[in-house]
Amino acid sequence: MTTTDSTNPLLVSVGLPPYDRITPADVEPGVNEMLTRAEQILESLEASDDLSWDAVMTPLEQIDLLFEYGWSPVTHLMSVLSSEELRTAHDSVQPRVVEFGLRLRQSRRIYEKLTALRASDAWPSMKGARQRIITRSIQQSELSGIALSDEDRSVFNTIEQELSQLNTKFANNVLDATKAWHLDLTDSAQVEGLPESLKRLMASAWSAADGNSDHETATAESGPWRVTLDHPCFGPFMEHCRDRQLRETAYRQYIQRAASGKTDNTNLISRILKLRQQKSELLGFRNYAELSLSTKMADDTSAILSMSERLRSAAYDAAKQELNEVSKIAAENGHEGDLCHWDIPFWAERLREERYAFTDEQLRPYFSLDRVLNGLFGLCHQLFGITVSKAENGVAPVWHKDVRYYDVADESGNTIAGFYLDPFSRPSNKRGGAWMNDCIGRSVTQKSVRLPVAHLVCNSTPPAGEVPSLLTFREVETLFHEFGHGLQHMLTTIDERDAAGINGVEWDAVELPSQFMENWCYHRPTLMQMAIHFETGEPLPDDLYQKLCAARNYRAASQLLRQLQFGLTDIELHSSFEPDGSESPFDVERRIAETTSVMMPLPENKFLCAFQHIFAGGYAAGYYSYKWAEVLSADAFAAFEEAGLDDADAVTRTGRHFRDTVLALGGSEHPMDIFRRFRGRDPDPDALLRQCGLLKSARP
Ligand code: ZN
Repeated sequence: MTTTDSTNPLLVSVGLPPYDRITPADVEPGVNEMLTRAEQILESLEASDDLSWDAVMTPLEQIDLLFEYGWSPVTHLMSVLSSEELRTAHDSVQPRVVEFGLRLRQSRRIYEKLTALRASDAWPSMKGARQRIITRSIQQSELSGIALSDEDRSVFNTIEQELSQLNTKFANNVLDATKAWHLDLTDSAQVEGLPESLKRLMASAWSAADGNSDHETATAESGPWRVTLDHPCFGPFMEHCRDRQLRETAYRQYIQRAASGKTDNTNLISRILKLRQQKSELLGFRNYAELSLSTKMADDTSAILSMSERLRSAAYDAAKQELNEVSKIAAENGHEGDLCHWDIPFWAERLREERYAFTDEQLRPYFSLDRVLNGLFGLCHQLFGITVSKAENGVAPVWHKDVRYYDVADESGNTIAGFYLDPFSRPSNKRGGAWMNDCIGRSVTQKSVRLPVAHLVCNSTPPAGEVPSLLTFREVETLFHEFGHGLQHMLTTIDERDAAGINGVEWDAVELPSQFMENWCYHRPTLMQMAIHFETGEPLPDDLYQKLCAARNYRAASQLLRQLQFGLTDIELHSSFEPDGSESPFDVERRIAETTSVMMPLPENKFLCAFQHIFAGGYAAGYYSYKWAEVLSADAFAAFEEAGLDDADAVTRTGRHFRDTVLALGGSEHPMDIFRRFRGRDPDPDALLRQCGLLKSARP
């Protein structure tokens, strides 16, 4: 029997989603009923002539809420409690959900209402947050071609379709080209020095290959071992393979992926760039970078270029120095002649071992989950005045017995938010990695106040007997990172859903709170409070702490230059590049490499043919966002350093200011305005350089 509307747990509209009651059998009837209700609201909205914020936005908010309780729990459970039954139920309703989403976003009537509202007398006196929500919504519709003439829209749709096919083709070519090459090693001398985990990976790659699976199985100890171009194999292989010839062979294959034969992406690159240019012009932009930046924090390409140049000029000599250090250790260990590309990762890894020898396993006993959480919550109490407390079991409905629910209270003790923590790995039904997403968004109307609730999902090792859940340092950083996203969601003070928390935050600004929180993992008092050995009760030894901090900036300049090279190539290809001009995309990349690499790429390097971020992913004219957000977060953290990290009052004062600006205002204002409110000025790239150890000068 399936549940009907009145009892279906996907059709509630208050409180927390009843996770303990949702079953796969509820999905089809619940989601279908939800969609029917949403369609009714949409139809009456489209039919109405009322024109005011409430008349237009309240129905849209109602639709949003239907999805928040009726669809989000389904997608959430797909990632934390998946099952064959749930997947089948999800797949059966998904097409209708997608279709409704498209209809809503492409509603001509809603678009007309919003533009009329913007032109109405009510507009100038409307709250800034509301103006931003409407402006953004109009802009999104326009970027999907809604305002074009019928003729132009038909061209636009054809371009969109071809682009979508080309993106898929590009990604498939990279995948196929990556798979097309491998090298089987059978002599144990060839794998000498490779880490155990890599040998295991290579042996299982050999075993899993066609024709090898049915007769014998490879082992980490005796092989055969298969070298592949997949990142988990290729990266460590280049760092650890002692056989220079093998490294060269693998490297040359790697830089030529998807650059010839059946999987050649060369022509796809030109075609994609050309279509993006046409699309941009149809929508009234000069080029694709302009289109991309129209929805981002960075104003224009010159803002990105000047930030990049500041970072580049500060990193260049340091990167040369880093290369010299690697050359030196290579020479000391018998390497003759100049280093080639395939030597750098190998010798850089030897240098890392020499300088900062520590392993994940050495650190793990110092980071038990509960201590780390206490440290994190204590820090948030100090910085933001919030108190995090675990709710009694049974208060919040959960999807698994290990899941905990926490209340977040402000300084006066009022509950302002809550979050779920699903801490442990469950390979059988839970997706890997760590993430934060919203469960309930904050919204305040005349009738109701809905407090924000977040999902915080991690995959740490579950406790076993007397041994608590122990985290690697990387996992500690990830937890802080995701909690930073959660803070922005939970500490928002904005009443309009579409601008509250992370909603409506430009994507090059969205990593500011998360990366900001990561910085505290290196803050000595914060770290030392958490890092207590679970058996001995000893604090983390000082030399390990020093190594941890030093390792953070190992080869920082080289890595920075590499990211700038990608970002600048991306921006140039999407702004000043002319698809029919005399320069090829590869020429552009080489020209940029002249100032952003201390060792020029080989002439046959075709990295662009595998650059999926910009040709198959969402990072086109957006790759710079990585560094942009790092500049923002480093500069935000620098405000605390300037105030004095040892001065508790100053830290608290600065923390409250950060809470009341960056965390509270979310998407209600332009992120640059919010940043200026916090910092009193524009972002300064020097903060990132100081953090990376690339700028020794005193702080202003
Ligand atoms: Zn993030």
